[in-house]
Amino acid sequence: MTKVVKFKCDECQTVGTVDFSDVEYEQEASEGGMGARIEYWGSFEDSCEKCSNSIKIVDNYTEYPADNFEPGETSLTGASLI
Ligand SMILES: [Zn+2]
Repeated sequence: MTKVVKFKCDECQTVGTVDFSDVEYEQEASEGGMGARIEYWGSFEDSCEKCSNSIKIVDNYTEYPADNFEPGETSLTGASLI
């Protein structure tokens, strides 16, 4: 899923972006009432280019029913969404 996340380092406020179309997602399927329900998880880890603070961003979305994509949560460690 194409998604650009813009974030700010919690330590030095430096702004960065990550393009999740470059991130490999893991998937986990389960059976729902309308067929397969697939959860996707993509995680990006890097260190801040300025202060070397370690930053981790995890994006999640769901496909259910097939071909219907619902955005999930984006969780950040070491940085905040802006
Ligand atoms: Zn920083």
